[in-house]
Amino acid sequence: MTSTETLTAESTQPVARPGVLDIAPYVGGESKVPGVNRVIRLASNEGALGPSPKAIEAYRALAGEIHRYPDGGSAALRATLAGRFGLEAERIVCSGGSDELITLLVRAYAGPGDEVLYSQHGFLMYPIAAKGVGATPVAAPETELTTDVDAMLAAVTERTKLVFIANPNNPTGTYLPAAEVARLHAGLPAHVVLVIDAAYAEYVAKHDYEPGIELVRRSTNTVMIRTFSKIYGLGGMRVGWAYCPANIADVLNRIRNPFNVNAAGQAAAVASLEDLDFAERSRAHNDKWLPWTSEALSALGLKLTPSVGNFVLAHFPDAPERNADAAWDYMKSRGILTRKMGGYGLPGALRITIGTGEEMKAVVEALSQFLGKS
Ligand SMILES: *Cc1c(COP(=O)(O)O)cnc(C)c1O
Repeated sequence: MTSTETLTAESTQPVARPGVLDIAPYVGGESKVPGVNRVIRLASNEGALGPSPKAIEAYRALAGEIHRYPDGGSAALRATLAGRFGLEAERIVCSGGSDELITLLVRAYAGPGDEVLYSQHGFLMYPIAAKGVGATPVAAPETELTTDVDAMLAAVTERTKLVFIANPNNPTGTYLPAAEVARLHAGLPAHVVLVIDAAYAEYVAKHDYEPGIELVRRSTNTVMIRTFSKIYGLGGMRVGWAYCPANIADVLNRIRNPFNVNAAGQAAAVASLEDLDFAERSRAHNDKWLPWTSEALSALGLKLTPSVGNFVLAHFPDAPERNADAAWDYMKSRGILTRKMGGYGLPGALRITIGTGEEMKAVVEALSQFLGKS
């Protein structure tokens, strides 16, 4: 069946709604290498230090209670988030990963004929979610692999219902200063939802950066979404959260599944937030190894896009024996998994997560040999 096939009286099998079969399914980072025991997993931006020991403890403590439904309102987690960030708990909505929030927001505010705007090399879940509801994803060009506010605003039409930016963006690692995000917001019609996906906010140490809280506080059409999958190392637990205007929180609470965050995820997330020391160590680790990796790979002659996240985007030469695909294969043969970027329109680049110091040294050594520098 082709994506254009539609339901007719003769259809011999169920036909998904228009748009669904246009979706190229999201492909996660690989996690296994056949025949290699110790795989270095740098394909999914999972926090280098893993989860907080306190999160593991909280998870284990729930083992005897898994027959119980979780708190459908994630009250303890929302209260902990509210306390930590100085927010109103009733304007926080928790979710099964922030991916769920992306899907819910699109489902609530867009449908067939509507447009969902994102930036050229933005996170792939935005167009996937748009197609899932029959809406049209529209990509605005970027400038130097960075969201271009003027290009985004120029791409807004009367059919635009949502605008997504990842700040910092995955996979480029670039970010927009708070003033630029505010300018984007100011240029949007009041009925358009601006979603600021701040999955990597905890890693950013720039004075002109703001994850979106200030903008959400003073608007009725801006949502900030966050995740426990990156710096908190809870990707396997699936926990995300949104800080919303009251009107949008109300909408999300009507359409989300009633028990969308599992009990262990809620407990592990609360424990992670309370482990301030762990978050600080994770940040400090990235502050050290992000520049170390960037400098070492640059010294090998690779071009690096300046990143403020827990990953780098490395651009390889075009020559077939030295290109990104060949580098990916070479690293995989040494048990190192990184992420290919063809799906993001960047086939000449690989995205490499910042792992442990030992893992980053292994990456540099492998690429040094691959490039014939040692
Ligand atoms: C990893 C990532 C997410 C998804 O996070 P989950 O909470 O694990 O669903 C969302 N947005 C961006 C930009 C990401 O990189």
